[in-house]
Amino acid sequence: MSGNHAGADRADAGDGTFGGYGGQYVPEALMPAIEELTDAYERYVLGNEDGFVDEFRGRMADFGGRPTPLQRADRLSERYGRDVYLKREDLVHGGAHKLNNALGQVLLAKYMGKERIVAETGAGQHGTATAMAAAHLGMPCEVYMGERDINRQRPNVFRMRLNGADVTPVTTGRGTLKEAISETMRDWATNVEDTHYVIGSVVGPHPFPSMVRDFQALISEEARGQAEGKEGRLPDAVLACAGGGSNTMGAFHHFVGDEDVDLYAVEAGGSSLDVDEDEGVAPNSASLSTGSEGVLHGARTKLLQDRHGQIVESHSVSSGLDYAGVGPELAHLVDEERVTPVTVDDDAAVEAFHRLSQEEGIIPALETAHAFGYLHEHHDELGEFVVVNVSGRGDKDLESVIEETSRRDVPNAPDMDVFGGDR
Ligand SMILES: *Cc1c(COP(=O)(O)O)cnc(C)c1O
Repeated sequence: MSGNHAGADRADAGDGTFGGYGGQYVPEALMPAIEELTDAYERYVLGNEDGFVDEFRGRMADFGGRPTPLQRADRLSERYGRDVYLKREDLVHGGAHKLNNALGQVLLAKYMGKERIVAETGAGQHGTATAMAAAHLGMPCEVYMGERDINRQRPNVFRMRLNGADVTPVTTGRGTLKEAISETMRDWATNVEDTHYVIGSVVGPHPFPSMVRDFQALISEEARGQAEGKEGRLPDAVLACAGGGSNTMGAFHHFVGDEDVDLYAVEAGGSSLDVDEDEGVAPNSASLSTGSEGVLHGARTKLLQDRHGQIVESHSVSSGLDYAGVGPELAHLVDEERVTPVTVDDDAAVEAFHRLSQEEGIIPALETAHAFGYLHEHHDELGEFVVVNVSGRGDKDLESVIEETSRRDVPNAPDMDVFGGDR
């Protein structure tokens, strides 16, 4: 959506596949919805029909607070001996990049004549962004959320309720994100005439991965111009954390054609990179680095799965990275060796969280902290001019950081005694 709305921006093969990844692996009942959405994506998002893209950009400016700054991090630049810049998506309304996508999709639903929004949420960040966007645009909104997640994320549940959304508990399976996605797809298939499903990352069947990437690509469109304005050139490296991969694809998209810009997708290494197939668990969420090809939620992509193709339970200290799949375009860019997948473990992410807070006065999301963990460990390999995408702010994570910091030895943490931790 780089100001050229005529489809020249398409990175897929025209059919929603990226190499062998992507596609539309959905039940028959969902195909009418998918076809209608594909048509709307091509007309409004790629074609700017009825001025859709102009209205999207206008609302992201006035309601969302865009453009976000590209800020030089002076202390980190000094510490690492190179220019470190921060793309401040934490300053987007709601505190993360997620509104870029949520607002884009709710607005698209309006243009399509839909009267109701459904969404799924894990930790509640995407549900919160969708509820905000729906309230802003006057659309009723229902958010499916695993029962276990509802109990773990009460503030986010209340935020969604404050914005007028209904939060529907999902009790099947483990009661987490995976089951919430399946339930939302069922609702969508049943109510397709009046309902749009706002998916939360660059995942799911085509056109979602391309469409969500286009909404998030505002990040790299701005960053590219800002880099040229501030340093007179493009960065040597761009770093972004990758869960489903939406802030990553957003931060990378307009640099993909610039061979000299190295792109790093930083995944959650969790507590270890091993998978215990017998237990069906992976103590990490590193699907790009350690996953294998399979189909999840309507798309072929890289997944954490056992040898029978069963999805294994992932883990990360940051709930937003805790997903067994990843966007198909990102999986393809990794196979093409255009994007380098790397991992940062829980301990390093918690340390990086404290470092950015202390040295730059920015409390990052735990997801974002992974990107700074990689910068800390590998700055020597990153060239003279590095951009880190600050996908979100850390206010939502304070409870878990108190807990995570209290039960491990974090050399650079403030004294935790005041919380009566059991160290
Ligand atoms: C949700 C979230 C992520 C992970 O989602 P992606 O689709 O991989 O971007 C990363 N950072 C923050 C702050 C989030 O809220």
